[in-house]
Amino acid sequence: MAKITFLGSCREVGRSAILIESKNGDQCILDYGIRFREEERLPQKTDLTRLKGVALTHCHVDHSGALPYLYKNKNPPFFTNPVTLEIIDKLIQDTLRISKYPYPFGIDELNNLKRNAHFLELGERQRIADDFFLTFYDAGHVPGSVSIVVEVDGKKILYTGDINTKPTNLVKSANPDQIPEVDAVILESTYALRTHPPREELEQQFVEEIIETIENGGKVLVPAFAVARSQEAILILNKLRYRGKLFIDGMAKLISKIYFDHPESLKNKNQYRNALRRAKFINRRRKKSITGKSNSVIVTTSGMLKGGSALHYIKPILKDPLSAIFLVGYQVEGTPGHKLVNEGVFMFKENDSKRHTNFDIDIEAKCKVKYFDFSSHADGQGLQDYIDKIKFQNSSKDVFCVHGDNKSVTTLASNLVDRNYRSVAPEDGESYII
Ligand SMILES: [Zn+2]
Ligand SMILES: [Zn+2]
Repeated sequence: MAKITFLGSCREVGRSAILIESKNGDQCILDYGIRFREEERLPQKTDLTRLKGVALTHCHVDHSGALPYLYKNKNPPFFTNPVTLEIIDKLIQDTLRISKYPYPFGIDELNNLKRNAHFLELGERQRIADDFFLTFYDAGHVPGSVSIVVEVDGKKILYTGDINTKPTNLVKSANPDQIPEVDAVILESTYALRTHPPREELEQQFVEEIIETIENGGKVLVPAFAVARSQEAILILNKLRYRGKLFIDGMAKLISKIYFDHPESLKNKNQYRNALRRAKFINRRRKKSITGKSNSVIVTTSGMLKGGSALHYIKPILKDPLSAIFLVGYQVEGTPGHKLVNEGVFMFKENDSKRHTNFDIDIEAKCKVKYFDFSSHADGQGLQDYIDKIKFQNSSKDVFCVHGDNKSVTTLASNLVDRNYRSVAPEDGESYII
């Protein structure tokens, strides 16, 4: 018997956390992330006195951000890989530093998490308790991302984590053929209702528009997530022979360096090294001179323009009809990036220290603004194709749809029911016996 309890990521993207228990009560946690809202950022509380292991699918903080909480006076083994550990260290430190939210853990707990890390290779079967094993498989989402198969009391459960069924320039795709026969799948559903545009055409269009802008004397700002998307943009530019000036700034520099040090996490380390060599890292001294220069591409955080060094460059670009801002990641509603793409207006939060006031200024974009959907998640068709390739040990074919908004998870679950799967979109706190 295996019991699955959903402690988060039900009908939302945020605080991914899944508890698996054996019949004698041994416990394992898969992911332990945070969500971004005012209250209840951590996964649902539950009794974890028999926690035998913690395993992480990938570095994004909606999967990893609350992990240190599990290491408050406790030392369960933490299963991950070197590139993911190095990145979560930086991301969690950054979250603690910039957030006003009173997280019930700090650097001490983060250090304790790191002390308990054990590295698992892809395909290596790790015992965590009696009749309780974990195995990692490539998930194709970002460098270091894995899906996890949990074997407990003779049952096998696949937790996909975030998956991409198409290769990107940075990583290979997830491969469902490698997954052994399972009894149940916990499936991400982020883009269950979307169809991504054909990748090659999109890449071509992205680079052509950049070259055109540069040739006309403009500058291009590419706000991108520090993890994976910034590096993907740089790889695309190099592959399609953009040979102009290219700069990287913000947290993307640090993550690019970590990937450089972990070539095992990349699809093609030589391509990555070549692409990165063409891009210049911006340091404090250089920042001023680059702000005024035209004919350059600047790839920098944050991806949704909520902060980060993109704000340092954006004002003159917004006012320049020859320049362009090309967003390359999903824009959540309510973020400055979403407003810029949909309304052509950028909202500055200015801070007048003399008068001790904060005020918002809307600047209308005179520059070109465009969104390129370089997603690292499977789309609706990708998810269906993936699940169809999974082999089930029994006819019930249980699929739990998580990590998507209400409409995405419920639609995906009902589509799967129509195709003879036993599928549900669970609610936070619900448990199921397999
Ligand atoms: Zn992710
Ligand atoms: Zn996620």
